[in-house]
Amino acid sequence: MRRMRNVKIVATLGPASSDYHTIRRLFEAGADVFRLNMSHGSHDDIRARHAIIRRIEDETDRPIGILADLQGPKLRVGTFARGSEDLAEGAAFRLDLSEAPGNAARVQLPHPEIFAALEPGASLLVNDGKIRLRVETCGKDFADCTVTVGGAISNRKGVNVPDVVLPVAALSQKDKADLEFVCALGVDWLALSFVQRPEDVVEARALANGRAAILAKIEKPAAVKAYDAILAVSDGIMVARGDLGVELPVQAVPPIQKRLVRGARAAAKPVIVATQMLESMIESPVPTRAEVSDVATAIYEGADAVMLSAESAAGSYPVEAVTTMDNVAISVERDPTYRDVIEASRRVVRRSVADGIVAAAREIAEAADIKAICCFSQSGTTISLVARERPRVPIIGLTPLVRTARRLCLTWGAHCTITEEQERFKGAVISAVRAARDYGFATEKDQIVVTAGVPFNVPGTTNILRVAPCDERLIHRADPE
Ligand code: PGA
Ligand code: MN
Repeated sequence: MRRMRNVKIVATLGPASSDYHTIRRLFEAGADVFRLNMSHGSHDDIRARHAIIRRIEDETDRPIGILADLQGPKLRVGTFARGSEDLAEGAAFRLDLSEAPGNAARVQLPHPEIFAALEPGASLLVNDGKIRLRVETCGKDFADCTVTVGGAISNRKGVNVPDVVLPVAALSQKDKADLEFVCALGVDWLALSFVQRPEDVVEARALANGRAAILAKIEKPAAVKAYDAILAVSDGIMVARGDLGVELPVQAVPPIQKRLVRGARAAAKPVIVATQMLESMIESPVPTRAEVSDVATAIYEGADAVMLSAESAAGSYPVEAVTTMDNVAISVERDPTYRDVIEASRRVVRRSVADGIVAAAREIAEAADIKAICCFSQSGTTISLVARERPRVPIIGLTPLVRTARRLCLTWGAHCTITEEQERFKGAVISAVRAARDYGFATEKDQIVVTAGVPFNVPGTTNILRVAPCDERLIHRADPE
């Protein structure tokens, strides 16, 4: 059940995909990582989905990544006496702290810190930007606004405040409880929503305390501005186009996507392109041509992963959506232009022995008829560096740590497998050729490239590159020890 592509697929689980049978079909269709969205679903739901994923992992003997997505400081209005109201353009509308049910003139916004940060002229976007309010006057417990774009507003709709860096904690009480819950359950990645500053990532990392890698969702203008600093302290990035397209004009999103993907690629950190990739497949078994083109664009950009949200969580065709992504990926990656584009966009500064070894591994593999690059790694760092090279040949990551293999489910091209702890290089080479043959990437007649760090089990020691025959007798002959 190996994948025939390098880009990875993240599928969000939800009501349309919470039973064993569907999750198993999503995996077989090509999902490499499952996203558990903490904004929806109870802890019992999350626990049940988590158990199903781990069961499938056991049954198929293939590492599967689990990404828990924390809701973050998502602002919401309170409730309305009539459930909803229509706001007309030009009307006055007040937001305040009163718990009294809302009406056509006002509603609660239960976030005192927002009132403290608002200024006249700021815009507030309600319900995914469908309604726009302009702040006219404000005080410590209210904001009087003019409706600049009208529409229906209803109970607990989300509010975006794009123009202001909000003085809110990166993690709410709910986020902290969710973080503890999913870390105890055992997840590989924690995604942080509405990150505004690098400190937000640092705070979450301290709480996770090594139990999960940290992925920053870039969905605020402030995060786009502070991108380099946020990238430096994160293990991965999500181009969260849904909220980004609310907080900024939609036409600003494609250039930001390109910049974010390039930056993460250069840093050898996985980057996910997310949201509305196959939106019409929520209701239709076939995507629009434009959606197919959008998925293809992310792949041509060299993103590590493409993501499904409602398409797999709440749509009518979750499995078809994964299959569509898989087919698009295979088609794009076979295109000779894809290789040209990937090579042209490689932007690597080489500073270390490991950087040099992975570059040499790619060049040797591409200069000769080499079938795979096999890479031994504890932490996964060297495997990520090989992936940064975006080589033409498959990358086989060999690690004794299941958590490393699971985290790398998000990394471009990494086919990971769990090996025993290695002691001698010769034994490692034999494990590597067996893995290459088991994956079906090589036969006895072929050659592979092997990279490792000796002594084994000391992180950061990548220092060996070997071209090895896949015929074990030849390995013994070359190295009788
Ligand atoms: P969400 O994040 O699906 O949790 O909102 C992704 C996005 O905003 O694109
Ligand atoms: Mn979002």
